[in-house]
Amino acid sequence: MLTSPLAPILNKSVLVLNTNYSPMDICSARRAICLFYNEKVDILETYSDIVRSPSVDLSLPSIVKLKNFVKNNNLNVILTRRNLLIRDAYQCQYCFSKKPPLTIDHVIPKNKGGKDTWDNLVAACQLCNRKKGDKTLEQAKMPLKKYPKKPNKIQYFQQFIKEDQGAWKPYLFMESF
Ligand SMILES: [Zn+2]
Repeated sequence: MLTSPLAPILNKSVLVLNTNYSPMDICSARRAICLFYNEKVDILETYSDIVRSPSVDLSLPSIVKLKNFVKNNNLNVILTRRNLLIRDAYQCQYCFSKKPPLTIDHVIPKNKGGKDTWDNLVAACQLCNRKKGDKTLEQAKMPLKKYPKKPNKIQYFQQFIKEDQGAWKPYLFMESF
């Protein structure tokens, strides 16, 4: 059977390394396969899944390495709702509930001057978000489990590691080569 362009395996995460093996980015397997066919990357590690097309069967890439060195390796993680939820491990930072739908709470409320920044935004379940409302932590008597910080990119990449991504660990300084 051919792999549909919508197949969920094509959404699996792929670690992208620079030519010197430093971690650069995470993309979808769909994008990694595209980069591979455009001769932008070499495939270093694969998942056990096979992508089937009319002309060729390809093992689903898990780690790819760029063929051309990228000089400006920006280590900033972009502040998005998804990245915030990843940083907070999809857990309410007040009660640790993982019950969806999770919301984003302003630690210092917006109407008290709170900004949309990494250190002022946390994942919160609907119940906690409603309970906290426009109050500060002290007023609401709702301490945070941990103080929010801007993630560093390596820590951020590490959070993508699930059962299937063991091969990533040496590249993210989680075990020795
Ligand atoms: Zn909660």
